[in-house]
Amino acid sequence: MANKLYVVGIGPGDQAYLTARARRALEDAQVLVGYTVYVGLVSGMFPEKETYTTPMRREIDRCRWALEAAAGGKTVALVCSGDAGVYGMAGPVLQLAPEWPEVEIEVVPGVTAALSGAAVLGAPIGHDFCVISLSDLLTPWEVIENRLRCAAQGDFSICLYNPASHKRSDYLQKACDILLAAGADPETVCGYVRSIGREGEEAAILPLKELRDAKLDMFTTVFVGSSTTLAEHGRMITPRGYERKRDLCGS
Ligand code: SAH
Repeated sequence: MANKLYVVGIGPGDQAYLTARARRALEDAQVLVGYTVYVGLVSGMFPEKETYTTPMRREIDRCRWALEAAAGGKTVALVCSGDAGVYGMAGPVLQLAPEWPEVEIEVVPGVTAALSGAAVLGAPIGHDFCVISLSDLLTPWEVIENRLRCAAQGDFSICLYNPASHKRSDYLQKACDILLAAGADPETVCGYVRSIGREGEEAAILPLKELRDAKLDMFTTVFVGSSTTLAEHGRMITPRGYERKRDLCGS
């Protein structure tokens, strides 16, 4: 009996972003489990494999189903977009795992949207940065507001996940207003990337005062620069500080 569950981050979409280790885990699995869209991104590579898909917001059902299938003797891959542990299924699976002690769990990392999106824009997170999700489905909004304020006060570059949805169309605007009130310059260089690594990928660089009014959706990752972030030749760059050391050749 295999009793094996891989929790696999598949990257932002295109197979080119799938790591060799993630591919091996998917190859090894008999069943691919996950949100319909993510399983759809990889099932084409393995048309012979059994799949079990659930709609969005059924995360815990999905984890339980995957653990149950692995406990039944199958090798299962629970597929997550980006990285499995960044707003992904690795945490919930490991929290539920004690109920299925016979299942061996392996977390396989993937390229999270902060990294794949940053590469599209240039180097926006080249220095200290933080990642904040604007989704208040599982986190009280006051906690999110406080983290935004602290990030602005700490002058971090910030990656915003879940910047909006149908029900939360003004959250990005609220977030920008909090950053501005906490002292961020309205000219702070910002950017966003929609559908990273997928068909129709699009990106833009714009100042914070304009990001505030951008109409973005949940398939977008937003980057707010720090006070040192630059827009140069169409790229967003947060310098590492070599200029100050007069040594631009370091790595
Ligand atoms: N585990 C995922 C994050 C899931 S939260 C990861 O590590 O990337 C969902 C949010 O991630 C989205 O609202 C969006 O902000 C971001 N995201 C995930 N994939 C994306 C993609 N292909 N393009 C743009 N943003 C993406």
